[in-house]
Amino acid sequence: MADEGARRENMVASHLLKAVQQNEQLPFMKTKPFGSRSGEHVPAANIGAMRLPRDTDEAVALIRHAIDSGMRYIDTSRGYSDSEWKIGLALQDGYRDRVLLSTKWSPWITAVQPGDDASSGCVRRRIEESMRRLRVDFLDFYQVWNIGTPDHYAQAVAKGGMVEGILKARDEGLVRHLGLTSHDSPENLMRYIGEADWAEVILLTYNLLDTRYAPVLEAAHRKGIGTIVMNPVGGGRLAQESAVIQRLAGSVGAISGADLAIRYVRSNPSVDTLLCGMTRLSDVDDTLASVGRGAFGPDALAEIDRVISGIRLKAGAFCTSCRYCQPCPAGIDIPAIMNLLSDARHWGWEQESRRRYLALNKPRAEACTRCGACEKKCTQKLGIMAALREAQALFEPAQAGT
Ligand code: SF4
Ligand code: SF4
Repeated sequence: MADEGARRENMVASHLLKAVQQNEQLPFMKTKPFGSRSGEHVPAANIGAMRLPRDTDEAVALIRHAIDSGMRYIDTSRGYSDSEWKIGLALQDGYRDRVLLSTKWSPWITAVQPGDDASSGCVRRRIEESMRRLRVDFLDFYQVWNIGTPDHYAQAVAKGGMVEGILKARDEGLVRHLGLTSHDSPENLMRYIGEADWAEVILLTYNLLDTRYAPVLEAAHRKGIGTIVMNPVGGGRLAQESAVIQRLAGSVGAISGADLAIRYVRSNPSVDTLLCGMTRLSDVDDTLASVGRGAFGPDALAEIDRVISGIRLKAGAFCTSCRYCQPCPAGIDIPAIMNLLSDARHWGWEQESRRRYLALNKPRAEACTRCGACEKKCTQKLGIMAALREAQALFEPAQAGT
């Protein structure tokens, strides 16, 4: 059985390589409708440009490799360091015509200049600036970035606000389509997508560790809003060695945790496309190979849900690394510690987590003054202060109880 799995795996990999070398369209990368509102089409996996390689030449080569492999939609942001600038270089030499280019901004995530706000005039400046950085004369998609609260939503849709500004840019041919991204509660998101007749696409987190937005994806899909999934591999966690995940992957015929994760997201019919976070060439090839292995059938999905919901039930809510709790006045990298704790507690990565905890170059859990500021901002309503005490006890046993 294992030999047969390896043989099929090699066949897929060699077919993939040949097809990419010949610049053929891979059959599983044929495009499908990107919701009905946009009228666009996208393949199953696309380019998430948040963590491009530091080296510009490497980043350009990676983006072009992804496009040559059949990826078509590029997701970036004004706030992703120099990502827009690197993409602008990669899209020279005819690559621009082969992609749907999307960027995003909001003043509550990245104030580029003092006084930046959610007005139509300000978003217009940010759109024009992104176009310059990307070296393009129009954007295919522009998204209101990370609507995190009802107040953000109200600011975006207010008269004279961001949405009005983006719609005006669309009327003038600078932007072709609008969308939004969010980490807000599923309940609030249901309201936003019920009202936002301007939204053609939505970008949300969804993976087998975090399925909170499954009903939102379904509702958006029903309304004809194109659905894009970020973090399909749980911010990389599902790709780490874990006996729990490995066992689960093996039981449903997946070859690794990352393969399990990608195929799980692909199995949701409400998901139009997922973003492949790209740092190495293998990120593209591995994602495409997983997409090529196909979605899971009902029995495999039931088994995955049975195992994961058992773990979830035990664990409660997870940190999504949204970083809304930052900065901590004591300088603690809260999401880093929350995730290390969760990895150790629920997924069996205790030794590796302790090693990474002790290697943190920021103040560790013992620096917490219990001011409570983080818990007020936590999008998942997590008991951060108690979790930090637990991390201290688990990773620094000598200090437990001090
Ligand atoms: S309670 Fe602790 S971790 Fe949270 S913001 Fe205050 S010092 Fe930082
Ligand atoms: S602790 Fe809460 S606010 Fe902070 S990153 Fe995690 S989920 Fe987000």
